[in-house]
Amino acid sequence: MTTWTQAPLDAGIADVIRGAGLKFTTPRGAVLRSLRDHPHASADEVLRSVTAELPKASLQSVYNALSDFVAAGIVRRFEPSGKPGLYELRVADNHHHLVCTHCGAVVDVDCAVGHAPCLTPSDDHGFVVHTAEVTYWGMCAACASAAAPATPTTPTQATTPTQTTTG
Ligand SMILES: [Zn+2]
Ligand SMILES: [Zn+2]
Repeated sequence: MTTWTQAPLDAGIADVIRGAGLKFTTPRGAVLRSLRDHPHASADEVLRSVTAELPKASLQSVYNALSDFVAAGIVRRFEPSGKPGLYELRVADNHHHLVCTHCGAVVDVDCAVGHAPCLTPSDDHGFVVHTAEVTYWGMCAACASAAAPATPTTPTQATTPTQTTTG
């Protein structure tokens, strides 16, 4: 798997921020820690977890920190259609996402095949392609199994096939 998994960020959070050429501030540290603990979070969700630590944090300050991180390349923002932008620390590995249309759960999927870009367009029109972004939409396992038992509760008489004559 990737070398990214569970980087020892707590001690290193300041280093990650400084390493990206940014000044370490407490709000930036809180935002980065929040993303480490809750990947694929929206700015609102980040704010919610940051305010536990910094009650005076504002949505604007969270947005500022996030956009600084994205610009510096240590945070990736992706936007499943119809949803707010989601942020995560897994960058530069061209992974994809499974999104549940029912509960909104988001799961990482490694590059579909081989290395980035893992999908090759049938015609690249002269572009030098570096990234392929795929969102797989569907129902997560929990939602699918929650939805499944609802069907067998139909009354027995309904099982008799209805004869339809089509003409
Ligand atoms: Zn779901
Ligand atoms: Zn992801």
